[in-house]
Amino acid sequence: NETIKSGIPAEVPAVAQPLAGEATEIASNIIYHAQYSPHFSPFKFEPEQAFYATADSVRDRLIKQWNDTYLHYHKVNPKQTYYLSMEYLQGRALTNAIGNLDIQDAYSDALKKLGHELEEIVEQEKDAALGNGGLGRLASCFLDSMATLNLPAWGYGLRYRYGLFKQRISKGGQEEIAEDWLEKFSPWEIVRHDVVFPIRFFGHVDVLPTGSRKWVGGEVIQAVAYDVPIPGYKTKNTNSLRLWEAKACAEDFNLFQFNDGQYESAAQLHATAQQICAVLYPGDATESGKLLRLKQQFFLCSASLQDIMFRFRERQVGKGVLQWSEFPTKVAVQLNDTHPTLAIPELMRLLMDEEGLGWDDAWDITTRTIAYTNHTVLPEALEKWSQAVMWKLLPRLMEIIEEIDKRFIATVQSTRPDLETKLSSIRILDHNPQKPVVRMANLCVVSSHMVNGVAQLHSDILKSDLFADYVSIWPTKFQNKTNGITPRRWLRFCSPELSQIITKWLKTDKWVTNLDLLTKLRQFVDNEELYAEWESAKMANKQRLAQYITQVTNVSIDPNTLFDIQVKRIHEYKRQLLNILGTVYRYKKIKEMSPEERQKVTPRTVMIGGKAFATYTNAKRIVKLVNDVGAVVNSDPEVNSYLKVVFVPNYNVSVAEMLIPGSELSQHISTAGMEASGTSNMKFALNGCLIIGTLDGANVEIREEIGEENFFLFGARAEEVPRLRKERENGLV
Ligand code: PLP
Repeated sequence: NETIKSGIPAEVPAVAQPLAGEATEIASNIIYHAQYSPHFSPFKFEPEQAFYATADSVRDRLIKQWNDTYLHYHKVNPKQTYYLSMEYLQGRALTNAIGNLDIQDAYSDALKKLGHELEEIVEQEKDAALGNGGLGRLASCFLDSMATLNLPAWGYGLRYRYGLFKQRISKGGQEEIAEDWLEKFSPWEIVRHDVVFPIRFFGHVDVLPTGSRKWVGGEVIQAVAYDVPIPGYKTKNTNSLRLWEAKACAEDFNLFQFNDGQYESAAQLHATAQQICAVLYPGDATESGKLLRLKQQFFLCSASLQDIMFRFRERQVGKGVLQWSEFPTKVAVQLNDTHPTLAIPELMRLLMDEEGLGWDDAWDITTRTIAYTNHTVLPEALEKWSQAVMWKLLPRLMEIIEEIDKRFIATVQSTRPDLETKLSSIRILDHNPQKPVVRMANLCVVSSHMVNGVAQLHSDILKSDLFADYVSIWPTKFQNKTNGITPRRWLRFCSPELSQIITKWLKTDKWVTNLDLLTKLRQFVDNEELYAEWESAKMANKQRLAQYITQVTNVSIDPNTLFDIQVKRIHEYKRQLLNILGTVYRYKKIKEMSPEERQKVTPRTVMIGGKAFATYTNAKRIVKLVNDVGAVVNSDPEVNSYLKVVFVPNYNVSVAEMLIPGSELSQHISTAGMEASGTSNMKFALNGCLIIGTLDGANVEIREEIGEENFFLFGARAEEVPRLRKERENGLV
């Protein structure tokens, strides 16, 4: 086995050895991939090569059930959900795939036979970080859960060449480095060379002799599908995450110009195509940055809808005349925030201009198909696109948006004259002469049959505030869907120790797909044995976390201290600043204490982590402050056995999977009314961590579930905040 680890010796035909048992079979399959699906020089089998060979081997298993799933849905032709999202924060896939296929032990044994540890091999994988934070991770959790629930549900997104940046901490604070998740390749994606759709930008609209309109000219980029399998837990159902890659055609490469030495202009469309999927959220301070973001959004929407319509048509074959009116009975499109709003006018365009439907039929189909999830009430995060940029880039879509706006106004004027004064704020187009814009959230609300917020409090605020006028028009359109998380990744796989204990005491592992069963643990509330086991699992996770922190920060932390964690995107409303100022206060108090008083202090390790958006100056200042506070506190011998402060660099899904199981107290202290839901709060609670939090987002519902005694309530209530703000502005406080 040693020889296999350091290099597959040529004279050992590993695959030909007699096989016995699943682990041996798997080991042989891994070796087969190392030899016959090689990605590296021959005879190397270091952890990296072992990872790729293992992933290939797992993928073999997935492909079979993935294809079967596709065929099954093709035959049954159920209504299928399509989740459109600019972000997916998938993280690593190997542990999840092996776990969902329920073959951990066999793969672990197989790798042992080959001289490797599964835990070490999974660490080789780079996170697929095609998202920013909660919204992207929600999309990924939904995919896992929908696959597990045997729902026909696909995700659509973009295949960004570089994921969310890698955060490096230096003396100056945060530095951003391109995250090259595809540096070698991703073993999980499969390019579908036969799934390609043209996407048009710029150009103009022609009126045909029939009177119908057609978008022509401009530039046409190809969208190529890359599929990632999404296996459900202990089920054959394996759904797809289809990511689009942008590509120009060979004929767009101007050989004449190239041979004339004009290399850049010869390959101009190729370069333009590459920009579309280069990065997630390119800076939008410049006009070209804004244009690129809009291109990305349209690229996702148009490619996905063309694909969805193609599949609808394919599944209708042999069932009589194609009935587009049945489209909403077979297709549900869910918009993850307003980023994919252009799906609305694009579906209208495809139905009218490509399929020949009239406005009323196209509108009926579009509105019955599309639903919208709102993720924020922060005014700066509500997307508005310049009308001028939209006319230039997407002229036909802009015509359609204008018509939707016009018809909406006409309907309101004829049915709700009382809303006349509100029209300028609820209509879609804002004709402010300084900056005429399209309000994407308004377009979504007007055109969707359902609108949801992501926690009860947030949905209530949407109804009573942001969308109040719309509620008076469509009282039943608005509802709540509190965010959720997959218990597989966020408990079963990230904390196998705790999971085992839960399974042992519940005498079943059914809780992995039915979390309500966890309430049955309450019957053991006074059981010392369970406490001891629980504590030892927590300690094991804390030790693992402590080791990791030392490795990435050079600060040694003591697992016997209280681990107090706040990890999430850095944002003023999330109030990491308040946390660190509170920590400075704690530091000063400890300094003032007598040695006897210090004995009463619970030693604490404060961990704060998260990425700041590259151009968000105040957030970057907070990152620097936390690091600077850490440098002072950790080097103060008088205090550092009572308090340590570490900034956890490069917070991502894999880091979260390490931090959350090792947590004891976690902070969710956003100003009430600002955090739409939060999802890490659920992950911490699920891992037996106490929460200190405001009555904001899903904290409210978590507190009801876990009981007030497990929740340290903090700060003002949402309804008190406006008054407090006013008082402060007026200098009353
Ligand atoms: N970023 C990452 C990497 C995450 O894993 C999560 C949630 O687990 C989030 C962001 C969202 O965190 P929060 O809900 O605290 O904003």
